[in-house]
Amino acid sequence: MVQLTHAIKTILSVLFFACIACNNTTTVEYPKGEPLLLIQPYGDFSDKHVKVAVDGIKSKYRFKVEVLKPVPLPSAAYYNPRSRYIADSLVNNLHKNSPETAFRILGLTNKHISTEKGSIRNYGIMGLATLGGKSCVVSTHRIKRGASNKTMMERFVKIVNHEVGHTLGLDHCSTVNCVMQAVEGQIKRVDNESGDLCSYCAGKVAPFLVK
Ligand SMILES: [Zn+2]
Ligand SMILES: [Zn+2]
Repeated sequence: MVQLTHAIKTILSVLFFACIACNNTTTVEYPKGEPLLLIQPYGDFSDKHVKVAVDGIKSKYRFKVEVLKPVPLPSAAYYNPRSRYIADSLVNNLHKNSPETAFRILGLTNKHISTEKGSIRNYGIMGLATLGGKSCVVSTHRIKRGASNKTMMERFVKIVNHEVGHTLGLDHCSTVNCVMQAVEGQIKRVDNESGDLCSYCAGKVAPFLVK
């Protein structure tokens, strides 16, 4: 319960959280053996896009990556008035249902996901993670907008690696071009990111990075 409460308190989204505590981190130790990151595709999420995520993660992080069979999005996470899925609920569900062997788990969906932002109860986002926690989720729904397939896939990989970075304890970063920048709803920020961690962020999670 303590762990769950902590997880809820430290949930971060790529869209709206301001960099209140820049370069704040929670230290996560690299476990013995190569840690396993599981990918849980939801519904009819494209196999091709799953592969892009796998390759994107493996290009940056030292994880063994395995892909689970697709499952339907949990109906309890559906917010009918806005036809969206509550990302916090998905993140908690992934954590709760993940096998012991998984070090981290990433859910992938093409449906619209949202979270609470101040007085806005259902704010659309691209991804959500627990800071230093086990699970995160990424949606391709908003990153498709006005983009070529190439641009969309670049955005997708950046968001995936951003959320995985949160699970390794990295908070939002104010360094220009760092993949851990807060996006604040601006897709151009994602497009302008290098896709890499800045040297400060990289130093914080060095054992997890491909050399
Ligand atoms: Zn974020
Ligand atoms: Zn950084």
